[in-house]
Amino acid sequence: MTHSQTPGGTGRCLCGAVQYRYDGEPTTIGLCQCDRCQRQSGSAFLIGVIFPKEAVTIVGPLATYEAKVDGEQRLWRHFCPTCGSAISITLERYPEIRSMMGGTLDDKSRITPRFSVWCSAGQPWLTLPAGITCFADYPDGTFGG
Ligand SMILES: [Zn+2]
Ligand SMILES: [Zn+2]
Repeated sequence: MTHSQTPGGTGRCLCGAVQYRYDGEPTTIGLCQCDRCQRQSGSAFLIGVIFPKEAVTIVGPLATYEAKVDGEQRLWRHFCPTCGSAISITLERYPEIRSMMGGTLDDKSRITPRFSVWCSAGQPWLTLPAGITCFADYPDGTFGG
């Protein structure tokens, strides 16, 4: 048995039909203010809590909406078919990661965003705190490494 300083944590959708656990700490946490993420979340941005794909285990029925980004790269938005909570995103561009939606984590104290992408598409009232780097678009090396 190995001892770990970062035992991971858990998360779930609003109704509880979909539950997950993750091992270790997120590799990065960022916001996305693109129009698609605003529409799916019904809010001003999505919170992407990034883990290596193998660090996350999801249990329960998961519906998937497949979209294309920029007409080429595919992206899958996974959500609870009962309550509609957005749970996770997987990306063709970065197949090695799983992006968990911040609001579904049980331990919100672990959500410490460092950056936001697509600030150029953001809602006009929104001003992010100092310490969150704003990118006008979606540069390589943000979410996906
Ligand atoms: Zn649910
Ligand atoms: Zn987005």
